[in-house]
Amino acid sequence: MAEQFDVVVIGAGPAGYHAAIRAAQLGLKTACIDAALGKDGKPALGGTCLRVGCIPSKALLDSSRQYWNMGHIFDQHGISFNDAKIDVNKMVGRKDAIVKQFTGGIAQLFKANKVATYYGFGQLKAGNLVTVKQHDGSEVELKGTNVIIAAGSDSIELPFAKFDGKHIVDNVGALDFTEVPKRLAVIGAGVIGLELGSVWKRLGSEVVILEALPEFLAAADAEVAKVAAKEFKKQGLDIRLNAKVSKTEIKGEEVIVTYTDAEGEKTLTVDKLLVAVGRRAATNGLLADGTGVQVNERGQIVVDDHCHTGVDGVWAVGDCVRGPMLAHKGFEEGIAVAELIAGLPGHVNFDTIPWVIYTEPELAWVGKTEAQLKAEGIPYKAGSFPFAANGRAVAMVEPAGFVKVLAHAETDRVLGMHLVGANVSELVHEGVLTMEFSGSSDDLARICHAHPSLSEAVHDAAMAVTKRAIHKAN
Ligand code: FAD
Ligand code: NAD
Repeated sequence: MAEQFDVVVIGAGPAGYHAAIRAAQLGLKTACIDAALGKDGKPALGGTCLRVGCIPSKALLDSSRQYWNMGHIFDQHGISFNDAKIDVNKMVGRKDAIVKQFTGGIAQLFKANKVATYYGFGQLKAGNLVTVKQHDGSEVELKGTNVIIAAGSDSIELPFAKFDGKHIVDNVGALDFTEVPKRLAVIGAGVIGLELGSVWKRLGSEVVILEALPEFLAAADAEVAKVAAKEFKKQGLDIRLNAKVSKTEIKGEEVIVTYTDAEGEKTLTVDKLLVAVGRRAATNGLLADGTGVQVNERGQIVVDDHCHTGVDGVWAVGDCVRGPMLAHKGFEEGIAVAELIAGLPGHVNFDTIPWVIYTEPELAWVGKTEAQLKAEGIPYKAGSFPFAANGRAVAMVEPAGFVKVLAHAETDRVLGMHLVGANVSELVHEGVLTMEFSGSSDDLARICHAHPSLSEAVHDAAMAVTKRAIHKAN
């Protein structure tokens, strides 16, 4: 006999654990199922984000940045040292400890909120029944008045570059190299390629990133992408655009990558190859026959604007549905669905989801780019301000980049904010807040910002929209 719950959540990643905790907070009897195991072979909640995504990548980005700064920035502060070394195992060990702390934290939050946790693979059957194949081989059946599918995503594998976990890897392998690869190739100059490529470049790898598209970071504002490309080049990241990989071969301990660019066919010999060409919804084996839940040609679960699948009581959130594959997008969808189930007005504003790339400099944006506004025929004014003219940024030896504010030409309502520079992962939220409150560039320009702070660049950029920035010629 299946145990009855108000809400059964499949997947305890960012989308699933937010849904489960919020549902439990609202007094709903909630269960959450997760199949994942950690590096120690024990169940680990938190999904891609906590185990092999956001958090471990940021841990390595921070370690590698400290190391890079020793060799490239410290001298400017008058600090010298002898013989800097990197202990990769210790660095990866620190990352593993952070992962363990946070995945364990979700288990504690589930306990505190009385979310019943099941460790195993969940399959949805008709009638909102969920079968869980647990790690010990046993099976349990749960019935949810509501079922929230939060199965997340897996790396896309290229047929000519199959993962072997040692030479050809995805993010999981690239977060766990035991030594700095002398030569690292990356397929895909997207978010993972740039972030993990940066980690190993900073530690001493020769990194070549092969990108199939002719344009670098096509989703970002063109000026932001241009500044980022220039800074990455200075750091020695070799990004080759228009490079189409057709073949890879593992020979001994080396990988030979064959690709074609405008000049013809070329080969590249490396020690490790990271494939980072996007992710695919993890829907394999998730749905038994007859559930009525639709899956599109990309493997995503089809949902409406409220994450409802169209099948009574069945919802889906996070990376396994349409929209950006971002942890915070999943957080908000998970919370919104739990609130809708409880009869509250759950809602996600897709127009104000921030994007961040945690490279050096960081890239961040919210809202529309200039190219999008032009394509949509929306009249706009732009104001920008360089960090080279911001006292705090210069004091920090972080002069690269700028903030750009885009506002409607007639109403002055902020339509987008695009940033490249130090700590812009934090500054972008000034744009998010302004847009959420339907604010104008004038609102931002009239808000007092602490001096000296990086956020003054946002203030100056907002003032520049109406040509009244104080710290630059307008
Ligand atoms: P997931 O996190 O993938 O979680 C799904 C969970 O469901 C998994 O634990 C899985 O094991 C489990 N599951 C799946 N199917 C079943 C089943 N049938 N039964 C039981 N359990 C199941 N996003 C950001 O916003 N910021 C970042 O800085 C960032 N960095 C990233 C870095 C890397 C290297 C990667 C790979 C991703 C990064 N992302 C980042 C993306 C982010 O990790 C995802 O958008 C986010 O994890 C998606 O959350 P989710 O809950 O939808 O899915
Ligand atoms: P991505 O979509 O960001 O980038 C993939 C890149 O690979 C694209 O530039 C694409 O043109 C290129 N590409 C695709 N096929 C190729 C081929 N055959 N040869 C060469 N290039 C090819 O995907 P990703 O970097 O794998 O990241 C996956 C997802 O994870 C992203 O959607 C992102 O949202 C999420 N993520 C987010 C963060 C963050 O928020 N900071 C960090 C990491 C990952």
